Amino acid sequence: PGDVPSPANPPSGCRFRTRCWKARDRCATETPVLAVPSGLAGPAAHASACHFAEEHAEVRA
Ligand code: SF4
Repeated sequence: PGDVPSPANPPSGCRFRTRCWKARDRCATETPVLAVPSGLAGPAAHASACHFAEEHAEVRA
């Protein structure tokens, strides 16, 4: 669900925010950096460009 943005005019902040059901105010103003969330190791450790990747990782752990 949500709006697929135009690649020629992507949204501010996170490019996925117009179709992300976990988007918050910060997602519109700051572009997330690609990084491995702290606390993850082994096969679960992978890079993610999301302001809230550590929260999401805790849910899956
Ligand atoms: S930063 Fe994370 S929570 Fe925010 S819109 Fe992007 S993917 Fe969704």
